[in-house]
Amino acid sequence: MTSSDTVISTAGLTKHYGDVRAVDGLDLHVRRGEIYAFLGRNGAGKTTTIRMLLGLVRPTSGRVTVLGTDIVPGATAVFSRVGYLVEAAAAYPDLTVRENLDLQRRLMGAGREAVGEAMDLLGLSGSADRRAGQLSLGNKQRLSLARALLHRPALLLLDEPANGLDPAGIIEVRRLLRRLADESGVTVFMSSHILAEVAHLADRIGIVHEGRLLQEFDYDELRARTGAYLDIGVSEPDRAAGLLREQLGLDRIEPTPEGGLRVFVGPDRGPEIARALIGAGLDLTRLVPVQEDLESYFMRLTGGGS
Ligand code: ATP
Repeated sequence: MTSSDTVISTAGLTKHYGDVRAVDGLDLHVRRGEIYAFLGRNGAGKTTTIRMLLGLVRPTSGRVTVLGTDIVPGATAVFSRVGYLVEAAAAYPDLTVRENLDLQRRLMGAGREAVGEAMDLLGLSGSADRRAGQLSLGNKQRLSLARALLHRPALLLLDEPANGLDPAGIIEVRRLLRRLADESGVTVFMSSHILAEVAHLADRIGIVHEGRLLQEFDYDELRARTGAYLDIGVSEPDRAAGLLREQLGLDRIEPTPEGGLRVFVGPDRGPEIARALIGAGLDLTRLVPVQEDLESYFMRLTGGGS
């Protein structure tokens, strides 16, 4: 990968708040034109990371480069090519949608036509003359997105863009982001706490937990990682796992937080497993076939149980 293909790169990016390691040694590489979903549960460090990418929070240590520019205090020029939506980026409540966008347009030095285009893109034209403070949550979020992309940035940094949108709104925003990436080569870095929301949209998903990047994968890899397993309750789980490895050649076996075993095989292997465990004098209390979906995979990775 050449440096011109990398739109965001961080090296050892770290932010501590007292004893809290909000972000802990993050190495991220986001490529031009991709939609990268930064996925983590509440408190995982997503917002802090996005704020550091924007130069709004000073890292404790580590480096951030955005569109080839090192982000240090005062590095403002690059942000004319970046659009962002962060939690606190509220519109002026007493101004109308059109006035809010016009203000943003002038701040960003975009042409007059940008306001109408952004309203069309986000389906806000019918609300152009409504005050921002009176909009529904979904339309407020649309207005924030319109402000973020009004000046046609090369990079969009979006913190939980689906917040406040109903299912139809989520699909609409998903299509819009896909179109921006495919047709205009816009790079999108977005955070989410719901895997299903980004699974079909993102080119790449990075799972962040307690400030660290746990895994990165694309959708096909994700599919390959989720799948069927047997949830097994057994006395002496360690001995049981060893036995299943040696006698039946099973290699994907994980202990569960409840003291059982998760064996990644299809349900057809159940009887054979039961025979082997009981034959070795172990007590089998549970053997349940589970078809794991995306969300339970995510919860399992981030320690939330299935
Ligand atoms: P959420 O989806 O809930 O916003 P997040 O993944 O965006 O979560 P962050 O908001 O980045 O997570 O927070 C990461 C950790 O850092 C949390 O434990 C949070 O309490 C802590 N934290 C964030 N900002 C501050 C701050 N200004 N002062 C102290 N602690 C903070």
